[in-house]
Amino acid sequence: MSKGRWIPLDHLICVRCREKRDAADLDRILWCERCCAEVRRRATLWGRLTGLFAALALVAWIALAVRPRFLAVWATIVVAAYWLGSKVSREIIYGVIRVAHRPGHPEGLDLFNGQG
Ligand SMILES: [Zn+2]
Repeated sequence: MSKGRWIPLDHLICVRCREKRDAADLDRILWCERCCAEVRRRATLWGRLTGLFAALALVAWIALAVRPRFLAVWATIVVAAYWLGSKVSREIIYGVIRVAHRPGHPEGLDLFNGQG
């Protein structure tokens, strides 16, 4: 049985930005609120782009294969596909960024930031 080290829990270090934070400001994987907000903003942007791509693909399929008569119904479906696709993509991308994060590298090594 090994002796555990004493760790002061009033201040911890965010594993992403390496700044000292109050323990209450860190989430369960020790990210501060600012890092979470920054990554969520990035995931929202990529989610919207993914939702837009999915909606455009749906529009192409509808125009070429379905040849609709009731455009309002199909337009509603396309808007719903964009909305739902962007939300689902945002959550998936947010999770992937957090899981694939390398501690101490807030900018250069996160996914979906344009730098690999
Ligand atoms: Zn942080």
